[in-house]
Amino acid sequence: MSIPDTAGTVYLVGAGPGDPGLLTVKARELVECCDLLVYDALVSPAIMAMANPKAERIFVGKRGGESSAKQDDINSVLADRAREGKTIVRLKGGDPYLFGRGAEEALFLLDRGVRVEVVPGVTAGIAAPAYAGIPVTHREHASAVAFVTGHEDPDKPESALDWAALSKVGTLCFYMGVKNLGRIAGELSKHLPRTTPVALVQWGTTPKQRSVAGTLADIEQKVADAGIQAPALTVVGNVIALRERLNFFEQRPLFGKRVVVTRSRAQASDLAEHLEALGAQALRFPTIRIAPPEDTRSFSAAVGKLANFGWVVLTSVNGVDALFEELDRQNRDARAFGAAKVAAIGPATRDRLAARGIKADLVPPQYVAESIVASLKDAGVFAKKDPAPRFLLARADIARSALPEQLRELGADVTETIAYTTVLETEGQDEALAALAAGEVDAVTFTSSSTARNFAEILGKERLAKALALPRLKCLSIGPITSATMRELKLPLHGEAAEHDIPGLVALLRKTLEA
Ligand code: SAH
Repeated sequence: MSIPDTAGTVYLVGAGPGDPGLLTVKARELVECCDLLVYDALVSPAIMAMANPKAERIFVGKRGGESSAKQDDINSVLADRAREGKTIVRLKGGDPYLFGRGAEEALFLLDRGVRVEVVPGVTAGIAAPAYAGIPVTHREHASAVAFVTGHEDPDKPESALDWAALSKVGTLCFYMGVKNLGRIAGELSKHLPRTTPVALVQWGTTPKQRSVAGTLADIEQKVADAGIQAPALTVVGNVIALRERLNFFEQRPLFGKRVVVTRSRAQASDLAEHLEALGAQALRFPTIRIAPPEDTRSFSAAVGKLANFGWVVLTSVNGVDALFEELDRQNRDARAFGAAKVAAIGPATRDRLAARGIKADLVPPQYVAESIVASLKDAGVFAKKDPAPRFLLARADIARSALPEQLRELGADVTETIAYTTVLETEGQDEALAALAAGEVDAVTFTSSSTARNFAEILGKERLAKALALPRLKCLSIGPITSATMRELKLPLHGEAAEHDIPGLVALLRKTLEA
């Protein structure tokens, strides 16, 4: 999607509160098509991932105690780059005009003749409470709501806020107020009963969301006990009473659970999104990276005469991708299969084939090599010995030998080619490693022998032993082959999926963690 005539415009875009699903359609279109993204600390990485990989990114937020870029510097970057004719998205958390200095940036740019447009966003002041079961208005509890800054200079003796007036509003939503919580509660207590409900929602709408509720009298202590820090939204008012019933987000089955996902970066999102939809925090720990084989000649040759095979067997989505990339290099397409039949090891591989226009002729009931052989046998594939049925196996360099051996025993003529290799991934593991070290992980999932092997290798003996010593940490496997490797590596095995696919693994996680 591209939006016409955007060159030289700065779009002040609200990125929403955190859940990437709460981004507006217009914001998404602009993020996808812009040349330059200038973004703040609270913009979710999932939203940044929507941008064109070629787009330039400039981070101007605060990170790890460092001070944020100076407003003057941000302003001049925006103006200079707009004059170069770039399409610029200035992405801000929540809504750009709510405590986001959006209007200051817009006025600066307009003064210099730069075209500015604004795309409002879903603000944390409404969304974070909503995801914690708190509606900001309700006919019986509050007829008005105020968005208030909680970020006042604590050394200033006089508050710029009219606390008496605020206490009459109904619902109050304080932004940036965690550090000043004591002062806020104290000022409001002069005008409201000490029993007035207060709630804080940290990292609202994200898998990291946490919330705590109390009263003006005890909220400061409760927040300290719970260790809640910025970014958090503070809500004050009787609407908080509805929280028990409306708290859909925190009542999801895996809410608050942390699960390490060890698949390759490209494949992790499938399992991770499943888990996030159930409320878990998926910690992506890519252990393998898919790369082309060192020598592609035999694979190219086999793909070159695809239609000569009776059966093409694909045992992973990576194999499907590699095959179609090779066809593309040869300037060919799905028609190259001709009359060859296609077997897929399981539903994910079948679906990836379907997306490329190929309907698999065979998907075995169990998603392992042995089951493919049995299904082929049942289908009468080996009944005729002359000529022997010809098979092409397009697989990984480390694939097991069971499949070709069993096919050959049955009289098949088998061509094995290496479609891709799996190499040890070294990047993108920091968050999961930190959570493992801090003992914050509930489960680690393994979806193949290589994910288990590389996980053990990346952690190393000492870190692995320490992480596994935690009684609450469960190690879960997708199926028997992966389980065998886990045993070999002396990894504990707390469960094996009954169905050896991602939904099967998700079902096992639910059974294990929903205690
Ligand atoms: N323009 C933003 C607010 C920027 S001020 C908006 O409209 O939401 C930053 C403050 O917003 C934080 O200190 C915190 O109080 C609040 N905030 C932003 N994202 C939040 C989230 N996901 N959960 C809770 N509070 C959040």
